[in-house]
Amino acid sequence: MPKTKIHRLAVIGDPISHSLSPAMHNAALRKRGAPFRYEALRVAPEKLKAFLKGKARTLAGFNVTVPHKEAVLPHLKRLAYEAELIGAVNTVVNRNGELVGFNTDGAGYLMSLHADKKFDPRGKRVVILGAGGAARALAVVLSLAHARSVTIANRTPKRAAQLARELAFRLPKSKLLACPLEGKALETALKTCDLLINTTRVGLGGTSFVDFPWEKLPRRALVSDIVYTPRLTPFLKAAKKRGHPIHTGEGMLVFQGALAFEIWTGLKPDVRLMRRELLRRLSVKKSRRGR
Ligand code: NAP
Repeated sequence: MPKTKIHRLAVIGDPISHSLSPAMHNAALRKRGAPFRYEALRVAPEKLKAFLKGKARTLAGFNVTVPHKEAVLPHLKRLAYEAELIGAVNTVVNRNGELVGFNTDGAGYLMSLHADKKFDPRGKRVVILGAGGAARALAVVLSLAHARSVTIANRTPKRAAQLARELAFRLPKSKLLACPLEGKALETALKTCDLLINTTRVGLGGTSFVDFPWEKLPRRALVSDIVYTPRLTPFLKAAKKRGHPIHTGEGMLVFQGALAFEIWTGLKPDVRLMRRELLRRLSVKKSRRGR
């Protein structure tokens, strides 16, 4: 009997050994009986071009993570609409030797909001803390999903203003605003906010915001954090204590992965299994840290 060809998938980044994507994807691929195997590949920035010209062509597809999400753009044949607007790629598919780029981070976040919290951004006022790559992806998809307004609040206010200005130019039907991460303008934005999202690195490893003006935020506002280590960040703990509904960050990782899985294999993965596998790995990591 002829042997089934195993198609190779990967995630590239530097560093990459911490990535939970291989465990999450391989569990879902096994469950579907799909002839694919997913691995983590460390690609240093100075080796990226050679990788894209060589080894990348032997893969069926790959995920792209820090620090390559923007650097891959000029080497791809085509970009999906959202990836072009976001200006970053997290998923590449090899279509007969042509590399096509997608960004499933933003769409994955929206799917998680819907699946985990039944939250529809249409007509809602959103405040995003942070103005980096993740904030940009979320500002784009929330605007495309007809949020009433998206306010970007950042520690470096100039960066927030630049991002809001650029996206407002590219998405003229959307309302994009900017403010500093403290003071009157932030408080005003919080007063009418329906969805508050932390996309800053604050929360990683349990760090927290000092003096966040929680009292301005209406109790009904959904508070979301895309940081997922720890799953319940100090930001989410503070929100929960004040009675806000909360949305945890692992959902975005699971759904961006599920969308990539579908792009590569044409199959729908078992999303619950992917989340279970991810949470299992996260709890193993946590207990190792505790030792
Ligand atoms: P990035 O491009 O480096 O942006 C980092 C942002 O955090 C900037 O706005 C920066 O503000 C802000 N920041 C950093 N330290 C801060 C501090 N001490 N106080 C206030 N603001 C601070 O990073 P990114 O790619 O957007 O990723 C941001 C976070 O999202 C990371 O923790 C990442 O792990 C997480 N993430 C999660 C998912 C998921 O699937 N759940 C996906 C993507 C990213 P300045 O501009 O002032 O420096």
